[in-house]
Amino acid sequence: MTTQAPIMRICISCRKTYDRKHLIKITKDYKQGIMLQKGMGRSAYICKSKKCFSDSKIIKKLQKALKTSLETEFIDIFEKEITSYNDYPNKGI
Ligand SMILES: [Zn+2]
Repeated sequence: MTTQAPIMRICISCRKTYDRKHLIKITKDYKQGIMLQKGMGRSAYICKSKKCFSDSKIIKKLQKALKTSLETEFIDIFEKEITSYNDYPNKGI
């Protein structure tokens, strides 16, 4: 019997390791630019804890992690996505 090991990734804000499915993935896609939860390319992860996604330096950290500058349009989309997680019941992360 084999058990599938969860894919672990590090949150760029708190630097803690989480199961991939508890994280928001931001990818700098080769063709389509910055994408949320999809795309191929350099990726950064943020956990869904309020402390991390309300981090005032999160955009700077993201830009550093992705080695790119983020456009205002993306930041708007990102903030909407992030705020939607406020409704999630907090399961200890
Ligand atoms: Zn975090």
